[in-house]
Amino acid sequence: MPRPDVLDSLVSLAKRRGFIFQSSEIYGGTGSVWDYGPLGVELKNNVKQRWWHAMVRERDDVEGLDAAILMHPRVWEASGHVAGFSDPLVDCKACKARFRADKLTDVACPRKPSKKPGEHTDCQLTEPRQFNLMFKTFMGPVEDSAAVVYLRPETAQGIFVNFLNVQQATRQKVPFGIAQIGKAFRNEITPGNFTFRTREFEQMEMQFFVEPGTDMEHFERWKQARLDWHLGLGLDRDRLEFHQHTEKELAHYARAAFDINFDFGGSLGFQEIEGVHNRSDFDLRQHQEFSSKKLEYVDQVQNKRYLPYVLETSVGADRVTLAILVNALREEAVPGEQEGRTVMGFHPALAPIKAGIFPLTKKDGQPEMADKLAAALRKKFTVFYDEAGAIGRRYRRQDEAGTPFGITIDGDSTKNDDVTIRFRDDMGQIRVSTSKVAEVLGAYLDADHARAESTRVG
Ligand code: ATP
Repeated sequence: MPRPDVLDSLVSLAKRRGFIFQSSEIYGGTGSVWDYGPLGVELKNNVKQRWWHAMVRERDDVEGLDAAILMHPRVWEASGHVAGFSDPLVDCKACKARFRADKLTDVACPRKPSKKPGEHTDCQLTEPRQFNLMFKTFMGPVEDSAAVVYLRPETAQGIFVNFLNVQQATRQKVPFGIAQIGKAFRNEITPGNFTFRTREFEQMEMQFFVEPGTDMEHFERWKQARLDWHLGLGLDRDRLEFHQHTEKELAHYARAAFDINFDFGGSLGFQEIEGVHNRSDFDLRQHQEFSSKKLEYVDQVQNKRYLPYVLETSVGADRVTLAILVNALREEAVPGEQEGRTVMGFHPALAPIKAGIFPLTKKDGQPEMADKLAAALRKKFTVFYDEAGAIGRRYRRQDEAGTPFGITIDGDSTKNDDVTIRFRDDMGQIRVSTSKVAEVLGAYLDADHARAESTRVG
């Protein structure tokens, strides 16, 4: 049975709670561009940091890079993007809408949303024609063809052109990788489904350079490592699957390619969140030819030189953040209460706010004690202080923000110098002395469990 479509409720929760806003909303919005609000920027930063940790900091065979968005225009000729980075575009002469010919099943007919484009009797689709997805602009004050530059449609090319710079600067030996996180731009024909397909997005890409002949064994290892990373984010196992590219889908230079797909529910269903590709030596060979600069690796041990093969892992920071939001959203009944609750059950490490701090009343020294505790915890964790409204409502507000821990200061706290920690997922509570709160939260976060349950620690 397909999982329910939660995108509409997510869009309204995201706006209401400050995860994601439509770009330039007061002007009617910009086509498929989104802004991350206070909770969203923390969530997405946590995703990016987790990736950077796993891919760069925790390894000694991957180096970091931050290449510029604007590159020499020849880069995009060498990479094949000028000639071939296009999607098939069809127009509907009846309603004037435009669609990607290979993704007609992902969108609705504007005249009859229950049908797909081409299925309604009025539809008059043209033959597909190729549409280049790169955004063009001009470098310098003169707007002529010699000044054309592109906004990069992927971060990978910044890595390829810096391959020898990084190798020589770090004295890494093949096999080794280069990783970077950065913005990419694609003039998508049919963007949509919230932040799933946008025209400006962030990629987290890693290119791993290996000796030809050893590529498939590295490929298998990276494929598994990347799936494990997604599982470590708390994405449900049965919402993740590999999709192997068919002969038709496979780029001409690629030796193998798998997508990691996530089930977004509803009609979107399983869709790519990451690609793991064996790109052979295509990219380095192209850049070597177009730049006339040797890009070979000199293997001093084996006394030979060669162009390494490249294994690429490419994941969208926004798309995986959307998967995390979809995976986290739960509407559930609360035993003994009439109203249910909405919970964003984020992995605690990803949660934008780690703890809510609530004095039970606004008197008897409770706000002062809570304020002091909040200030101390802020040095290590993102915390949110809230003294407004009934305690149940304050818990609910933090459940919706995905805050894993709620710390309550009550009448006994001021006497005994202790507090209650309430857990978002099982709503269990433990009593902890004030001086130990940071340690207990730290222990939960270090344990890196995908859920916050009161039985685990304490
Ligand atoms: P698709 O088939 O969905 O257009 P793709 O195969 O062109 O994607 P890649 O070029 O492999 O995608 O990009 C790698 C990753 O970058 C994707 O798995 C996705 O997470 C992200 N990505 C690509 N295009 C977009 C976009 N328009 N909006 C958001 N994320 C994107």
